[in-house]
Amino acid sequence: MSLQSIAEQVKGCQLCPLSKSRLHAVPGEGPDRAELMIVGEGPGREEDLQGRPFVGRAGKLLTSALEEAGFRREEIFITNVVKCRPPENRTPTEDERDICTSTYLVRQIELIKPKFILLLGNTAVQTILGEKSVSKVRGKVIQADENNYFCTYHPAAVLYDVTLKEIFAQDVKMLKQILLNPDRYLRRGRQTSLEKFA
Ligand code: URA
Repeated sequence: MSLQSIAEQVKGCQLCPLSKSRLHAVPGEGPDRAELMIVGEGPGREEDLQGRPFVGRAGKLLTSALEEAGFRREEIFITNVVKCRPPENRTPTEDERDICTSTYLVRQIELIKPKFILLLGNTAVQTILGEKSVSKVRGKVIQADENNYFCTYHPAAVLYDVTLKEIFAQDVKMLKQILLNPDRYLRRGRQTSLEKFA
C-alpha cells in the first residue's frame, strides 16, 4: 500500500454520502516522508474545485503562517479528516468522520510516520484525540498512539475571529521550535480515540 494508491482509492470512494455531492475528492498532498503532517476538517469550495487541500482563503492564511514560522509548504503532508467537501461546508457527521478516518487517514499516518501531526480545529481534535474543543488542547504537545500531536485553531476560525490570529501564528512558530528539538517537549502516556480505528 502506498500513498499514491490511497489517493486513487479516495478519488473513487463511495463509502459515504459526501461522495455524491463532491466535484473532486481531496486525498491530501505532500512528500511520502514528511516530518510534519497537517490534518484539517474537510475540503471547502475551492479545495473541491481543485482537488487540493487548503488552497482557499483559510489555506492561504495557513500557508503564510507556516512560511512566517520557517516551514515550506512543500515539505509538509497536508490532508483532512474527511476527503470530500460536506455540502454548504457543514461539519462532517460522526459517521462520515469515522469512515474516512479508519479507511484513509489512519493509513496515511501509518505510511508517512511523521514526527509531528498538527491538528487544526475542533473536528480534527475531536476525531483524533476525543477532545471536545480545540481551546482545551491548543498549544500543547500530546504524545499518543505512537504519534506526536500539536493542536491549534482552524485557520477558518482565525479568519472569522481576528483576535485568534496572533495566537495561531505563535502556535505555528512554537511547533517549528518543537520540531527543531522534539525531546524537550515530549510527554508520554496519553490515550487518544485513534485506537478505535485500529
Ligand atoms: N478547511 C479544511 O479543513 N481543509 C481544507 O482543505 C480547506 C479548508
